[in-house]
Amino acid sequence: MTFHSPFQRHKETLYIRLDTSRCKACWDCVQACPQGVLGKVDLHFHRHAHIDRAENCKGCLLCLDACTHQAILNREVVYDNVPQ
Ligand code: SF4
Ligand code: SF4
Repeated sequence: MTFHSPFQRHKETLYIRLDTSRCKACWDCVQACPQGVLGKVDLHFHRHAHIDRAENCKGCLLCLDACTHQAILNREVVYDNVPQ
């Protein structure tokens, strides 16, 4: 079962999961997303991508292709590999 806390909403959409620990704040995914789903946390010592509008995600995975740091994961792959 997938649990959606308000906190998790900023880490996942229906299609992708964002791993902020891997994020290098290059903003390539923000540019790549045609739906405006992704935004920025851009503070002096705290910078990473952020899911602003999870409900707008269409699952095109352009953000995943744009991220060269493996910080965006395909949820289908993530949850398919979770032991039941
Ligand atoms: S899967 Fe597509 S719509 Fe969803 S956040 Fe990534 S680029 Fe945007
Ligand atoms: S493309 Fe990857 S590394 Fe760059 S801001 Fe997005 S999630 Fe972070």
